[in-house]
Amino acid sequence: MYKIDELLQKAKTVAISGHVRPDGDCVGSVMALYLYIKKNMPEIQAKVFLEKPSDVFYCIPGVEDIDTVMESREVYDIFFVLDTAADRIGNACPIYERAKLKVNIDHHISNPGTGDINILVPQGSSTSEVVYRNIDPTKLDSSIAMAIYMGIAHDTGVFKYSNTTPDTLRAVAHLMEYGFDFSKLIDETFYEKTYHQNQIMGRAMLESIRFMEGKCVVSTVTKKMMDFYHVTAGDLDGIINQLRIIKGVECAIFLYQVGEMEYKVSLRSNSYVNVSVVASYFGGGGHIRAAGCTMKGTPHDVINNLSARISLQMEKKDKK
Ligand code: 5GP
Ligand code: MN
Repeated sequence: MYKIDELLQKAKTVAISGHVRPDGDCVGSVMALYLYIKKNMPEIQAKVFLEKPSDVFYCIPGVEDIDTVMESREVYDIFFVLDTAADRIGNACPIYERAKLKVNIDHHISNPGTGDINILVPQGSSTSEVVYRNIDPTKLDSSIAMAIYMGIAHDTGVFKYSNTTPDTLRAVAHLMEYGFDFSKLIDETFYEKTYHQNQIMGRAMLESIRFMEGKCVVSTVTKKMMDFYHVTAGDLDGIINQLRIIKGVECAIFLYQVGEMEYKVSLRSNSYVNVSVVASYFGGGGHIRAAGCTMKGTPHDVINNLSARISLQMEKKDKK
């Protein structure tokens, strides 16, 4: 029997959550599990507790059912945490703490596994793919398939990052058979940018600085800049990837201000720097080629501290 089906057998009430500032894989995996339960186990009372997703994700059926207030006092039979460990679920934490059985499903290598049951697959392309592997693939419908497809597409950079495997594409092929408009889905949730999103991206590129002989590049977006272009954190997606694909760059760093002397850091690498190690050192986490953390100080301090850890790895490589 599929693991998720087995877990759901005895449950009457189920809560599902993912990480703060939910991305495509987070929304995709959470919604896929929610829609799967609603379709196949209608007797179970299921609820999603999640920070409000970006407007582009409202194309997935059921996103409008998400509880973004998270004031429920209910003691759930099962609480599923998806695409993160339980430390990044924000306001859903008290509901999680009360739940009878805590299940963690994730593909982040840095996840220590703090649930009662942990389904952790670091080699999985996405949490959405991990969910797909643990539900009955004959019990999907076009909405469930669409949610999983979106999650996989987002975390693989539309099926091209090194985490994409033949098995990932076989899963994707199966999902496509459900007949949703995948071209529109990818364009509208992944590629399309508003005018202001493009402007802030341009500004970030213009002000980027290369160092370590062009092997590193960094760009910083301050609160003042975000206000000027009328954008919020969710509008900055894609900037880090544009930095990563600069010719000659091994490691890209993107900072945006989240508080007085506080910055959210995104890290990407192309072939040998393990950015998960760097982010974990500063209390964050992620994958070998994509990771993040939050750091205090001026941008100058943050970049200095990060580059010290990155250069350690580069020196090791040079010695080889
Ligand atoms: P992004 O740079 O797109 O925000 O994140 C890249 C990857 O690192 C994602 O898989 C994300 O979940 C992970 N990540 C980003 N920030 C943090 C953080 O503060 N803590 C942890 N544990 N993971 C993070
Ligand atoms: Mn993910």
